[in-house]
Amino acid sequence: MTQYDYDLFVIGGGSGGVRAARLAGGLGKRVGIAEEYRMGGTCVIRGCVPKKLFVYASQYSEHFEDAPGYGWTVGETAFDWPALIAAKDQEIARLEGLYRKGLENAGVTIHETRARLVSRHEVLLEATGETVTADHILIAVGGRPKLHDALPGHEYCITSNGAFHLDELPKAIVIEGGGYIAVEFANIFHGLGVDTTLVYRGVKILGGFDDDLRDHLQETMIAKGIRIVCHQILEKVSKRDDGRLEGRLTDGETLVVDQVMLAIGREPNTNGLGLDRAGVDTDQRGAIKVDAYSRTNVDNVWAVGDVTNRVQLTPVAIHEAMCFLETAFKDNPTEPDYKTIPTAVFSQPEIGTVGLTEHQAAEKYEELEVYRASFRPMHNILPGRDEKMLMKLIVDAASRVVVGAHIIGPGAGEMSQLLGISLKARCTKDDFDATMAVHPTAAEELVTMYKPTYIVKNGARVD
Ligand code: NDP
Repeated sequence: MTQYDYDLFVIGGGSGGVRAARLAGGLGKRVGIAEEYRMGGTCVIRGCVPKKLFVYASQYSEHFEDAPGYGWTVGETAFDWPALIAAKDQEIARLEGLYRKGLENAGVTIHETRARLVSRHEVLLEATGETVTADHILIAVGGRPKLHDALPGHEYCITSNGAFHLDELPKAIVIEGGGYIAVEFANIFHGLGVDTTLVYRGVKILGGFDDDLRDHLQETMIAKGIRIVCHQILEKVSKRDDGRLEGRLTDGETLVVDQVMLAIGREPNTNGLGLDRAGVDTDQRGAIKVDAYSRTNVDNVWAVGDVTNRVQLTPVAIHEAMCFLETAFKDNPTEPDYKTIPTAVFSQPEIGTVGLTEHQAAEKYEELEVYRASFRPMHNILPGRDEKMLMKLIVDAASRVVVGAHIIGPGAGEMSQLLGISLKARCTKDDFDATMAVHPTAAEELVTMYKPTYIVKNGARVD
């Protein structure tokens, strides 16, 4: 027996914290976990999972529009927002229960409380005032949406947290931001019949993604009826006498809406965590600084997930947690691998992407072959839907290795998972060519683009 109450105490019951606690418990370690809100964290409670359920709900408007193309007559349709919220809440409660059960089965002690560090081995449980001690402490408290204190009227705005619990579906909404959350929610609200405006400070939405996908998505969203206002920010939000909100843009335009949603990034949840008491360093953005093994400057205190602001994605937090476990408890120091992370944006149409964008690849390789296919997916033909799908493979001409794969269209997220394996395995374009097509699918384009659409040499396109 050690001198401590626990071998491991985890602060934060999200994706990273729960995985680490459960696995450590499974190794026979004495593990405690504290969560102040609901077990499951951002991903399960107010992020990826409920978002995806909302995406499914919002896609029905197009399914109804497309149905006559396949011979169906759809009667009058109506959407019931409270019914969706209730169904979503029921599913989230079920998942939360599974998370708890997993922890309990692994013998982990759950503390339903906010917790903070008192020293490098002591954690105060605020609900009871009890202090527990632990050999190792893992901080996995995640992040929260930025609130934008500098914006006059920010107190009238919601973030993604609020969007999951609105009493009423707004008639009109303005969303500020051009990243994952802004884009996904703009499509969700639009699909549910809300008059939607996206305000983005940059040139085009989804900075950091391949330019072809960005152009394609922005054009398609506009064609669907979403208003996208670029080069603008919200300057002020005010409440009118009738309860509606007025958002003033930099160019002076005023938008009258029922909700203003800010999706301008997320920040680490480190306020009031007692990091100073334990001597744990943070960076200028408040994120906990860690080494390649997720260890902080205090050698028994570790941190994983969004609180470290490395890559803000659920699977990354889980991976970091698993590497932490290898390092701290299995005598097998393991660094998380951040290379070639596939990702999806659940916009409509959906994006799936892995590896380098064309721009990034052009900076890295002397010569690239770019394979590009743009076509109407089969499903869209009979309904007469014009929306196209785009696929793009970026190949290092010297080695023939596929260094980037980018898709926008139905099923792109699912495809990106499998492309992730191919790119991780450093498959060459010849491997793609040697793979038999699956017919009739959209994905078969990935193995039937035999000739490069264009070449990029020393950063410049050569047709
Ligand atoms: P992002 O970092 O993706 O995007 C933030 C956006 O807000 C950018 O367009 C940024 O502009 C803009 N912005 C930042 N500050 C301001 C400001 N002061 N005024 C106006 N605009 C501003 O953050 P999100 O909030 O969309 O998402 C957070 C993270 O969550 C993502 O990075 C992602 O990792 C994760 N996530 C993943 C999902 C998935 O896997 N499908 C889904 C949802 C979230 P600019 O581009 O100019 O910097």
